[in-house]
Formats: sequence, structure tokens, C-alpha cells
Amino acid sequence: MIKYNNSPLTILQVKTILLDRRKKWFDHVNFTWWEPTLFPDFLWLLKFTKKLWYKIYVWTNWTLLAWEEFCKDAMEYIDELSLSVHWYDQESCYKQIWHKNHFEIFKKAAKNINKYKKGNFFFNNVVINKHNFKDTLKIIKFLYESDYPMKQVLISNIAPEWIAENDFKDLVFDLYEFKEFIPAIVKYIEEKWIILRFFWLPTCILDEEYSEYANDAHWEERHTIERYTNEAWKITLIDIYSPDNSRKRCFVNKCSNCKWKNKPCTGVFSKYLENYNF
Ligand code: SF4
Repeated sequence: MIKYNNSPLTILQVKTILLDRRKKWFDHVNFTWWEPTLFPDFLWLLKFTKKLWYKIYVWTNWTLLAWEEFCKDAMEYIDELSLSVHWYDQESCYKQIWHKNHFEIFKKAAKNINKYKKGNFFFNNVVINKHNFKDTLKIIKFLYESDYPMKQVLISNIAPEWIAENDFKDLVFDLYEFKEFIPAIVKYIEEKWIILRFFWLPTCILDEEYSEYANDAHWEERHTIERYTNEAWKITLIDIYSPDNSRKRCFVNKCSNCKWKNKPCTGVFSKYLENYNF
């Protein structure tokens, strides 16, 4: 982030993109990555976006939602809020995030969100890796019993992207080992009437019985506007079009006769195959 300090995205750039896309009939915007709430005038941006009749999704680490006034205002405009909780207590939180106050900040934010919710829809994304995949059910139970009014949980297999790409060997885990935990997770979630999706998981790991929970089946094409450093070291914006979610995944021999090939499954991460057989 330091290299971007002198070249922040301006409010004018964001407004221009929002206006342009609305004219092209886009109606759903997702403010995400590295912490969108830290964008200067974020509340003003939410109001502006809502005036254009967008449905607003925000994926946040919730730190600012622990501030009551901010949370109260933000809940007026956010239609869909997604948190990323990958732990279930102070100790497991520290092991995943390396931040000693994060657990207490979550509790404050969850309380504020519950207090000021206004028909918003609440997601949680549990990113599972070698260090927490056996605790997935504990994490979901913790969330369900917390103040956070979660309505949908996404269980995301760790992807070899961004900072996880370099450390992938230390984060990747045996998908067949995880498979053993799936029945208990599904049973608990079904009893609580929460929506469940598994993301970036080959459909055959879910088997016929749980294949309906594959997030791949619900993927919608999208455009992502990102800041990017070009070859001349100038920071610019690029528009990445993703017609499907096959990112960094590939098919293996056993995929050739598979009924799920391409729809909904786009295979297994190539980098996974460097670490485990599939
Ligand atoms: S396409 Fe391949 S990875 Fe996907 S479900 Fe079928 S066998 Fe598994």
C-alpha cells in the first residue's frame, strides 16, 4: 500500500466510474479489497452510490463498524455486508490475523451492526487454510452465537492469489481430509436456516449429496476495476472482465468424463497439484 500513498484513487475517479457504469445498466456494486471503508469520504460515497440506485455490497474487515456513529450511518446505505471471520476466539484470531485487538473489535462491530441493521443482508466469508480448516464448524458456531446477524456463510478454499500465492505451500491442505468435515457443517447450517456455499472447491469434493452448495453454480460474470502499476511505473485503473471463475484452476485426467466439468466446476487449483494428488 505504501507505494500508492502518493497516488490515491480520487473521489472524482470513483464517481466517474459509477456514473459511467450506471449508464451502461450496471446495478450492483461491490466495494472491496484492502479495506474500502478507509477510503476518504466513504460514507459520502455510499450516499452518492445509493442515489444512483445501485445495490451496494461492502466487504470489510469491520474495524470502522466498531465506531457506533459510523456503523449507524453505513447501515442506512449498505444492502449487503460481508465480513471475513476465520477464527472462533481470541487465541485463534491472533493466530490467523496477528492482531491482538481484532477479536474485541469484532465483538463491538457485531453489536453495532445488530443494533443498527435495517433489512440489510449479512454474509460471512470463512477462508480456510491448513491452520483452521479443521475448525470450520467451530468458526460457524461462534458466528451464529455472536451478535453478528449472519444470513449466509461462504466457506472459501484458500486460493493461490495475492499474498497467499507466495505462502501457498504453508497454507494449502488436503481437500480429501476436509471432505470428512462437510457432513457435520451442512447439518449444523441446515438446522440454523442459514444459506451455505463452498467456494473454490471442486464439486467432486462435495459429492452428489452436497453439490447444490457449490458456489460455482451461482457465479455471475463481473467487471473489477483495480488500480494497477503499468510498465512505465504509472499507477492507472484497469477493468478486469471475469466471465467465469476458473481463475488459476485446471482440469485433471479424471475430469474428462465428469458431469460437472465446466458447469459448475472449473477444476482444481494448478498450484494445489504441486502439493497434493487429486
Ligand atoms: S471437473 Fe474434475 S475437479 Fe471438477 S468435479 Fe469433476 S472431476 Fe472434480
